[in-house]
Amino acid sequence: MLNPYRKDFPLLDQKDRVKPLIYLDNAATTQKPEAVLKAMEDYYREYNANPYRGLYDISEKATERYEEARKVTAEFIHAEDSSEIVFTRNTTESLNLIAYSYGRSFLEEGDEILIPISEHHSNLLPWQQLAKEKKAELRYLYLDEKGHLKEEELKAKITSKTRIVALACVSNVLGTIFPVKKIIEKAHSVGAVTVLDCAQSIPHYPLDVTALDTDFAVFSGHKMLGPMGIGVLYGKKALLEKMPPFLTGGEMIDFVSEQEATFAPLPQKFEAGTPNVGGAIGLMEAISYIKNAGYEKIRAIEEELTAYALDRLRELPYVTIYGEKYPSENRSGVISFNVENVHPHDVSSLLDADGVCIRAGHHCAQPLMRYMEVAATCRVSFYLYNTKEDVDAFIESLKKVRRWLGLGD
Ligand code: PMP
Repeated sequence: MLNPYRKDFPLLDQKDRVKPLIYLDNAATTQKPEAVLKAMEDYYREYNANPYRGLYDISEKATERYEEARKVTAEFIHAEDSSEIVFTRNTTESLNLIAYSYGRSFLEEGDEILIPISEHHSNLLPWQQLAKEKKAELRYLYLDEKGHLKEEELKAKITSKTRIVALACVSNVLGTIFPVKKIIEKAHSVGAVTVLDCAQSIPHYPLDVTALDTDFAVFSGHKMLGPMGIGVLYGKKALLEKMPPFLTGGEMIDFVSEQEATFAPLPQKFEAGTPNVGGAIGLMEAISYIKNAGYEKIRAIEEELTAYALDRLRELPYVTIYGEKYPSENRSGVISFNVENVHPHDVSSLLDADGVCIRAGHHCAQPLMRYMEVAATCRVSFYLYNTKEDVDAFIESLKKVRRWLGLGD
């Protein structure tokens, strides 16, 4: 399978490895194209300086590029104003910021927060802690056997008490694509605010915060070809403006006296301390790479690989696939499965001997694992540089697992 993108990813082409690398853990983090690596190296080699405060040319250039990254990110997700983009460390920090700042200011006893049972711990623990502190109730939407939300539950659980509805656009375990537009409309009809965890969607599907009319949206740079350590929080200006700062310190102030302080306008109010300029520049380059490739092309590659992998997995009688077992417009390129009588950690370790990288464990979704009555699963996840040959290598290695362990074919 000729893949025009693979050559751009140096990590996938290391000649000195004993076995070629078959990287199928893209839901955990993606590899970085040469252009992202170069943009970050150029920053550190040529104009590394603390932005905003330096009155000299490289500091001014660092400031300019950091703010350009903000603008590019805003345009990419169709935010109305770049001051609605706050750079954080990752999805987790963005979600904590919303729970601490918005949640602690605006939630009251008896209010309800609603999330699907499939949420990543990052989109669960901040709400669980908030609910405890505020004596609010954290309620869950459960899934059907194919991993979809149930219509009747949505109707019953979004009520006049619901203040926050937070959910992933795409599940990191089952690959389910949730009908977020409909859920946002329903949440708004009762006056709740919406939080979209786009960590697993933005690498693969466009995000239009204005068309969706979501109040908040969050994601991580490292899952979309960018570096680790840079994340994004989008919030509607009117909401961000009335929220108190999350972290306090340098860069986020306007004026400080011995006992009082006033805070900088958006978005600096939420960016305490020296920002990750190199990370933001890397993210900007990653966005450019995704735009050049085009989401349609990315999806076409992933859909072909997902359909092929599901076909081949279904041929193995000892493999259980979770969620949608067939290609569908409601599933992405994340496949969770188990091999009968073999712990997922053993599957992953044995595949590693063939150079195949997959994920095994609870995927930071323990309540979902309990709900599905499994301790853990194996997970493969694709991105635009993967090929059918990667899937073949994975399947051939997987076929050996039970033989290796003396469990037969
Ligand atoms: N939400 C989802 C749906 C995820 O898949 C992940 C990463 N696995 C996160 C949140 C957390 O992302 P990060 O670790 O970059 O904060």
